[in-house]
Amino acid sequence: MIIISPMKDCDVVVIGGGPAGSTTATLLAERGHKVVLLEKETHPRFHIGESLLPANVPLFEKLGVGEEMRAIGMEKWGATFVSPWHDHIAGFQFAEGTDPSIPMAYQVRRSEFDEILFRRARGVVMEARENCRVREVELGDKDNPARVTATDRDGTAHEWRPKFIVDATGRDTFIANKMKIKRRNPAHNSSAMFGHFANAVRDCGKDEGNIIIFWFDHGWFWFIPLKDGITSVGAVVWPYYMKARDKPLREYFLETVAMCKALQERLKDAELVSEPEATGNYSYVADLCQGDNFILVGDAYTFVDPVFSSGVMLAMNSGFAGADVIDARLKSDKAAEAKARQRFNHVMRVGPQEFSWFIYRVTNPTMRDLFMAPSERLGIKSAVISVLAGDLFGGTRFKRGLYLFRALYYIFSIAHLRRTFVAWRRRAFNIRDDSEMRLTRG
Ligand SMILES: Cc1cc2nc3c(=O)[nH]c(=O)nc-3n(C[C@H](O)[C@H](O)[C@H](O)COP(=O)(O)OP(=O)(O)OC[C@H]3O[C@@H](n4cnc5c(N)ncnc54)[C@H](O)[C@@H]3O)c2cc1C
Repeated sequence: MIIISPMKDCDVVVIGGGPAGSTTATLLAERGHKVVLLEKETHPRFHIGESLLPANVPLFEKLGVGEEMRAIGMEKWGATFVSPWHDHIAGFQFAEGTDPSIPMAYQVRRSEFDEILFRRARGVVMEARENCRVREVELGDKDNPARVTATDRDGTAHEWRPKFIVDATGRDTFIANKMKIKRRNPAHNSSAMFGHFANAVRDCGKDEGNIIIFWFDHGWFWFIPLKDGITSVGAVVWPYYMKARDKPLREYFLETVAMCKALQERLKDAELVSEPEATGNYSYVADLCQGDNFILVGDAYTFVDPVFSSGVMLAMNSGFAGADVIDARLKSDKAAEAKARQRFNHVMRVGPQEFSWFIYRVTNPTMRDLFMAPSERLGIKSAVISVLAGDLFGGTRFKRGLYLFRALYYIFSIAHLRRTFVAWRRRAFNIRDDSEMRLTRG
């Protein structure tokens, strides 16, 4: 039997209780707005995206969850790069970035991390529901109010009449799908397989929590040490490689890991303790991130690639910028709203753009050379570290170093013209793929 509960009025419905949604909901509720937060799953639940950036840390403090994040997080002070085409390993410490006040981040189990953020929101919002999937959204117009319809797992249907709607549904991209404004990123395409290992060989001391990136012929691997001794390992590969899978995912994943000697060495006594998962075609963008009475935050607007662990930081930042838009709107402060909308646009576009320049080139031999032997001169290395720390919105001055790095990249590319051309052709071939979005288990 379907039970329909009476229609309710509220200021804001936030759809999705991941980092973007919980952040937005908390900030708005704390400013006195009546917020409803809806999540289709029950926390704690698995989610990929376990490596955070230093720029996340001040956001935890602002939300009042710093202590809880310290308790669950493995300290991540830097990143290490391992390349089969170089005879040394390379790396950096975030403390070498332009802003030394954000020297570290955390590696987290997203089940714990997302639950902390969701519970934080639940403590302040008017209503927070798990197991409650939004099925229908009418954005409304000047004559008709917006309407959000959702159902609990037991079939109970709920309806709200909000003044504003936040789409924080992550890669489900609810509103972008509904409005048919979601576009595949023509400049990028990759797929991933990932799982958790016990007994992986980690570095010692302060480096234990570093993320390690291993390049290999078909892409690259992440190695993310978690606090409880488990290590998350993922292979990010070109779609052709994933399409060639001819055996169960577990076997294919382990076979892929074995292709990377340096990684295999760290996993030789390790055991894969979770069923691996695979996901593909996750690089997309929506045509717009805001409308009159709605915004898209986090992955609901765009996602590019996981290589620089930027997703959660960008998602939470979009929640901060988005909350300003909605707050001004609900207070009918037109000047503040216009300013907040401009800033929201900036945050949604500039963050992914800055990372994209690196993401599109990370498997290019010139970029690999630069990462394996970073120039310490003229602030170049610290500027690159600042981007990789996610320090994009705090006003830190590193543009000059970044432009010099890019100039170096183009100079080396021209100096090795043949190699550059071959790599460019190869990449154009690799990213050609228009297969359907899919998520495979087992
Ligand atoms: C392979 C891979 C590896 C990654 N690694 C990293 C990493 O190391 N570091 C990093 O920072 N980022 C990483 N990311 C990206 C990161 O996972 C996302 O950017 C981040 O989770 C975005 O947060 P969000 O709140 O926007 O979306 P999500 O975290 O996806 O949250 C969306 C929430 O909305 C809920 N939802 C969806 N539809 C509905 C509905 N109709 N009704 C109600 N609820 C709904 C979902 O259940 C979910 O809880 C990775 C991504 C991939 C694909």
